Amino acid sequence: MTAAPLPDRAGSSDDTGALLQIRHLRKLFDSFVALDDVSLDVSRGEVVVVLGPSGSGKSTLCRCINRMEKPTSGSIRIDGVEVPQEGRALAQLRTDVGMVFQSFNLFRHLSVLDNVMLGPVRVRGLTTTDARREAMDLLDRVGIGSKADGMPAELSGGQQQRVAIARSLAMHPKIMLFDEPTSALDPEMVSGVLDVMVELAADGMTMLVVTHEMGFARKAADRVVFMDAGNIAEIATPDDFFDHPSTERARDFLSKIL
Ligand code: ADP
Ligand code: MG
Repeated sequence: MTAAPLPDRAGSSDDTGALLQIRHLRKLFDSFVALDDVSLDVSRGEVVVVLGPSGSGKSTLCRCINRMEKPTSGSIRIDGVEVPQEGRALAQLRTDVGMVFQSFNLFRHLSVLDNVMLGPVRVRGLTTTDARREAMDLLDRVGIGSKADGMPAELSGGQQQRVAIARSLAMHPKIMLFDEPTSALDPEMVSGVLDVMVELAADGMTMLVVTHEMGFARKAADRVVFMDAGNIAEIATPDDFFDHPSTERARDFLSKIL
């Protein structure tokens, strides 16, 4: 008997087994090239920090990964499965890919606890008892347990962002995307959020993090990706990138922010 053809998820010959596999991703807005030709692997448990000047395509990259934007061409696979176009499969993808934005986007009319419980009850089908227990654990983990019954508006920006992280984690994502999670925060709120992210990384979460926090990149990143004009200009370890950037564009970028 001949072997059956391999199912899709066993992958084509370029399947590296990485949790996130981006191949020749291209995204145009009309004729404007936001992403030109981006290929990137992120392994399980890896933390990749994405740096680059404003307009280089960092947010568009994140938004293509969780399908908030439709790529013009190229492929994105998560855990071996091509990111789906629509329907149920897309809903599943959205639970696999957690995303935390600059603006926290909490549901303002729901308590902190309800913000974290909503997805698990509605999408994962947990009982309210189980969802509450899990949400409380997550809120404790991000240091907000005592605020569970409060409303988002009663929290500082940093606390709201930590709730947003807990809310994402409650969906049990395979990978977490962060798009400048601390950029909208008052300076004194930044470290609390970064501490939560460092812990998450240490716990083994796979993370793609767009940030201008170079301290975080040095401390938590396994690799740094430097983007310029819709392409990856450089991929390196943090030490190599910060101490010996190999491209002129990266040297220029670093000279402006460090
Ligand atoms: P970054 O996050 O690195 O600052 P973005 O990914 O947000 O960059 O944007 C990359 C480029 O694509 C920018 O020039 C931006 O103006 C453009 N762009 C992003 N989103 C849209 C959109 N919805 N329509 C048109 N142009 C867009
Ligand atoms: Mg951006």
